[in-house]
Amino acid sequence: MLKYLKKALQTGVVTGTDPLTPPEVDKNFRGKPEQNPAQCIACAACMNACPANALTVQTNLVSGMQEWSLFLGRCIFCGRCEEVCPTHAIVLTQEVQMAVWRKEDLYQKSAYPLATCTECGKPFAVAKELQYAEDLLMATGQFEDREALHQQLNTCPHCKRAHNITQSQRINLSRLLREPVL
Ligand code: SF4
Ligand code: SF4
Repeated sequence: MLKYLKKALQTGVVTGTDPLTPPEVDKNFRGKPEQNPAQCIACAACMNACPANALTVQTNLVSGMQEWSLFLGRCIFCGRCEEVCPTHAIVLTQEVQMAVWRKEDLYQKSAYPLATCTECGKPFAVAKELQYAEDLLMATGQFEDREALHQQLNTCPHCKRAHNITQSQRINLSRLLREPVL
């Protein structure tokens, strides 16, 4: 016993003070993912890329919101969500301490209003995502009429199909037809 005490006194303290002081980690360390709701457009790219099914994006027609959620209990810190996010809304931090008292505290959640179709009035996409697409397309310089682009983007696929079939003034097929060779 004395032998062990002597050895312990000679060695001194070798353990860290975690959780009082978080351990130092490498700058490339992949820790807890953090989502910035202000940056997120609820496009669901992160959910599709997540190999651990830690991310979910669901449409709630009752509340009219697209609900985004990350469950840290499933996360494997692979960083795929950060790689695919088009707006840099989710990043892996250097945070290693994730102990919580309640399971609910392992969730990060946010919600985004749905846009309704300008023709039929039904919700069909996330308003922020449509706005993001509109701004991106305008920035390409290929569109001059923002109002027309907005109208086009804010029409649901069903109405687009219906109007292409029933309203001939909406499409110009003549550019696809060749003059008859006489
Ligand atoms: S990929 Fe980025 S913008 Fe898209 S839902 Fe995930 S966090 Fe939001
Ligand atoms: S780090 Fe990997 S496992 Fe964790 S939420 Fe992102 S994609 Fe999913």
